[in-house]
Amino acid sequence: MFASVLIANRGEIACRIARTAKRMGMRTVAVYSAADAGALHVRCCDEAFFLGPADPRESYRSIARLIEAAKQTGAACVHPGYGFLSEDADFAEACAQAGLAFVGPSAAAIRSMGLKDNAKALMAEAGVPVVPGYHGERQGATFLKSKAREIGYPVLIKPAAGGGGRGLRRVERHVDFDAALEAAVREGEAAFGSSRVLIEKFVPAPRHIEIQIFADAHGNVIHLHERDCSLQRRHQKIIEETPAPGMTPALRAQMGAAAIEAARAVGYAGAGTVEFVADGTRALRPDGFWFIEMNTRLQVEHPVTEAVTGLDLVEWQFRVAAGEPLPLRQDQVRLDGHAVEARIYAEDPEDGFLPSTGRIVALQFPADVRVESGVEAGDAVTPYYDPMIAKLIAHAPERAAALDRLAAALDRTLIVGPRTNVAFLATLCRSDAFRQGAIDTGFIDRNLAALGATPHGIDGAAAALGVERLLQVRTAEAAASGSDHDFGTNSPWAAVDGFQLGGTRALIVPIVVDGGNAEAVVTHTAGGARVCVGSAPPASDARAFIAGDEAFVLRGGRQTRVKMRDFAAASSAAGAGDGMVAAPMHGRVLQLFVRIGERVARGQPLAVIEAMKMEHTLHAPIEGVVRRIAVGVGAQVVEGGEIMLIENAETG
Ligand code: ADP
Ligand code: ADP
Ligand code: MG
Repeated sequence: MFASVLIANRGEIACRIARTAKRMGMRTVAVYSAADAGALHVRCCDEAFFLGPADPRESYRSIARLIEAAKQTGAACVHPGYGFLSEDADFAEACAQAGLAFVGPSAAAIRSMGLKDNAKALMAEAGVPVVPGYHGERQGATFLKSKAREIGYPVLIKPAAGGGGRGLRRVERHVDFDAALEAAVREGEAAFGSSRVLIEKFVPAPRHIEIQIFADAHGNVIHLHERDCSLQRRHQKIIEETPAPGMTPALRAQMGAAAIEAARAVGYAGAGTVEFVADGTRALRPDGFWFIEMNTRLQVEHPVTEAVTGLDLVEWQFRVAAGEPLPLRQDQVRLDGHAVEARIYAEDPEDGFLPSTGRIVALQFPADVRVESGVEAGDAVTPYYDPMIAKLIAHAPERAAALDRLAAALDRTLIVGPRTNVAFLATLCRSDAFRQGAIDTGFIDRNLAALGATPHGIDGAAAALGVERLLQVRTAEAAASGSDHDFGTNSPWAAVDGFQLGGTRALIVPIVVDGGNAEAVVTHTAGGARVCVGSAPPASDARAFIAGDEAFVLRGGRQTRVKMRDFAAASSAAGAGDGMVAAPMHGRVLQLFVRIGERVARGQPLAVIEAMKMEHTLHAPIEGVVRRIAVGVGAQVVEGGEIMLIENAETG
């Protein structure tokens, strides 16, 4: 077995690969970009090598840098994970040339399957059913349009070099073809550097069913059953499971044989996935599934297969790459119970699933399901990479029990900071149609409102709780730091628009809730301050977390983010002449030299930040008074994130 491995990836998959490699006694080498200094995958490995800037082209996708990393660290093999260079034949070749074992198939096998049109032609030749359509050389727009009419609408236009659902265009009507083709070509060029497309019949009510295969260098090829990945959004899988609802042993054997045929046709070795689309208008049947593509790598959803087979697919990958034969024969592969995986993304289902970035304030996963995570509390989700941050995998004897377990685990998952799809996933797991297996790839898009993926507006009770906690924190801080503290201007009691409410003094406090302006009404009673937002008092069924000048309130699976507007206004647009001190790059605060309220001279050192294993001293941009310090010593900061605010001496 290899003595060491360079893991050419990041996030959860790099952590997961490191775990198996360590168990197998390998020395693990992580690689990281400037945005990932100190990231979890770096902490998971024995060593780490700095690749370059955040842009993947200069780091995780730079073949030259990765080969350099492997050479300098003396790694024996390279595991590419998924995404990035995992399906890049040039990378596999470069590894071979550098004398490094590539944990994956040969460059030739990757090339054969890399282009969907080529792969389909190969499969058709090998007798595997392929989706009807055009996958030839001719690419003229008029010609392709005539092909689309022949195939019959609706059709799907796909970039031949595509992946990750990008560039796919569904066309319903002949008149819309030209525009859709143009878009697919443009996106294909931008994402994959190739303008080639193929046209496919759009299979009605499509179900995505794929077969996990494994091959060794000794001519053995087996399959490890199917996975159903029909819950998708924009052609991206969200929940995956095995076995597929409605699958029969006979059909499994038939699809498995077709997948094995596909692998044999290209001289495959290692882990691979043969993807099929099945006609979901009727029950699964022998003449109702067609090959769409083969992914020549480990798949995101491989843990569900591991759950029902009891195998470690990454271990198998290493064994095959080291020249060992497959550990099991086809008839020895188990299929125990049912497993479901949910992909947790840092995104906002209420805002069109927009990716959400920022520091993770708190993070907790339940203990009774498998968790694959790429982050820990204190880490930041940056805008540079895929927003998938974790996966939960539940396993149970029956499908319903596995879905129950997954839903319950999602309910108990706590992620504070960036918004996530956790509550959305739990709702999906409980949806009747999904539980009955009556789903196709369009299910989520057709049911967005029922699944809660529409704007919900402000949660007043949650916001009120946030304001209450922020006021408590400030009161405590003011008390602790003595009377000369600048608490006064931030206190609601310093506001000028106080009024009387039922005999008690009430104040309107401007706040920011989820990025929008709002107001809290604070009344002062004998028992202390009472807060209401939109007439709602603080929620009693919620949890609040304070980070810097913000409160994050979790209630019913939803996060509400609250700030006082005096702070917020300053951080979004510091007053004219004020000096906002921001982090020049991602890093960690090592030292703070000043305190709130202190006068500083222009150029005076304020703080030290450690980034990319170097220390950077931040200096006062202007003369003035330290009005606010947004971070503590030890805090992780993101590029552009606020460190402190210096108020202009004249205006302050
Ligand atoms: P990618 O390389 O981007 O993963 P695929 O060819 O695998 O592209 O297609 C992505 C998804 O689109 C599939 O998972 C499947 O659900 C759906 N899909 C692909 N081809 C068809 C088709 N011909 N008809 C219906 N749905 C399809
Ligand atoms: P699969 O077919 O295995 O579901 P996809 O086709 O969805 O995989 O593609 C994998 C996706 O994962 C790509 O879109 C890629 O951008 C993304 N990705 C690559 N590396 C990572 C990583 N380390 N963590 C999270 N996502 C990643
Ligand atoms: Mg695919």
